[in-house]
Amino acid sequence: MVTNQKLDAALEALHGDMLDTLRRWIQVPSVRGEAAEGAPFGMDVRRMLDTAMEDLCRLGMNPRNVDGYCCDAEIGNGEETIAVLAHLDVVPEGDGWQDEPYGAVVRDGRLIGRGTADDKGPAVAALFAMKALMDAGVPLKRRVRLILGCDEECGMEDLTYYEKVVGLPDMGFSPDANFPMINTEKGITAMKLDAPVNDPRLISIESGTRSNVVPGLAVALVEGDVREAAAEAFECDNEACEIETSLEDGNTCIRITGIPAHGSMPDKGVNAAKLLLAVLYRLGIGGETVRVLYETTGTENDGSGLGIAGQDDVSGKLTLNLGLLSVRDGQLSVTYDCRYPVMFSGETVRGMVAQTLRDYGFVMAPGRDSKPHYVPEKSQLVGRMMAVYNDIMGTQAKPFAIGGGTYARHLKEGVAFGMIFPGEPELEHQANESIDIENFYKASRIYAYSIAALCE
Ligand SMILES: [Zn+2]
Repeated sequence: MVTNQKLDAALEALHGDMLDTLRRWIQVPSVRGEAAEGAPFGMDVRRMLDTAMEDLCRLGMNPRNVDGYCCDAEIGNGEETIAVLAHLDVVPEGDGWQDEPYGAVVRDGRLIGRGTADDKGPAVAALFAMKALMDAGVPLKRRVRLILGCDEECGMEDLTYYEKVVGLPDMGFSPDANFPMINTEKGITAMKLDAPVNDPRLISIESGTRSNVVPGLAVALVEGDVREAAAEAFECDNEACEIETSLEDGNTCIRITGIPAHGSMPDKGVNAAKLLLAVLYRLGIGGETVRVLYETTGTENDGSGLGIAGQDDVSGKLTLNLGLLSVRDGQLSVTYDCRYPVMFSGETVRGMVAQTLRDYGFVMAPGRDSKPHYVPEKSQLVGRMMAVYNDIMGTQAKPFAIGGGTYARHLKEGVAFGMIFPGEPELEHQANESIDIENFYKASRIYAYSIAALCE
């Protein structure tokens, strides 16, 4: 990579403005709220959109408000357009903060606040990369369109709307994940199955909040006093997991604590619903339905018990998270979140699971299938951006695969690019979310040079 002194000087000169801008953005708590006119995701999100548009204007870009769903602005010339997708909404702050979550406190070289990493920091880094390219007069033979969405965290209605009303460019990147680069996202399908439970002793089960989260808690109500037997049947290597039992009107309440994790990485957690299934299975409670569920998906997270395990070279292994489990009025319901490799078909996976469990009385409900997403390593997009990243970082890193679900999958040829560097803590959606300010500047430089390389 040839360094461009003018571009580096322009980037440096913008550091102060970059940090100020991001701090102002962090101070707007843009959590989705009740829709109002011109504010489909609530007034706080709308206020954030207005703030961003004012900054875009101030920086000499000409932003367009797409009905409160997104805003966008372009630089450069040419027939083709590169999209840069980031978002302005944040998840609720939650508990456990040492500082004001929207205070934008700077301490020890870090900026602290909800949205610093996900995704206002990356949005500002990309915005100022574009500003620096303008200031340095770098010729761009493609147009570069920054699209700032307002609903990434709650279903991506923003880009769905944008796609319908404006249309998305084919190619681009989203600074809403990790460096070096994510070029492969597995397919995602949620599979809900129902079956009768022919054992009146099993009164109820409740476990899980969302199919894409590993349940951290599972509660069952079982007829009679089985407290001792249940405690004996409980097995778990992890000391953080435990069973509690209590007697309620002559019945036993079993309460099992596991460790929650993201459903795309089930091995990172300990599934409380599975621990409960194991206890019930060992006690012989729940009849054939519980037995089959335990035997097929009670121990592994790779779908092997259902005959769908497998992997390919680009995306790694299939994962299966048992995300929701309930028994009510003699009816069991289970929902799996499956992340399958790019070479697999969601239809085949669903068909195999339905077929394996059909003989035991399970019926699969219709469900969504989000296709895998893959941009080859030898493509111009991946090649040029990775070359810039490796030059600046002095590495020979390669792009990698994840379980899926980034903003980039909206683009035909889209990758996720930064801005969490390898080895940095992953604080998105957590208390005390923060970023390293020097790395924020470094990411902006990587974006500037990458955009220049794509627009040569
Ligand atoms: Zn995000």
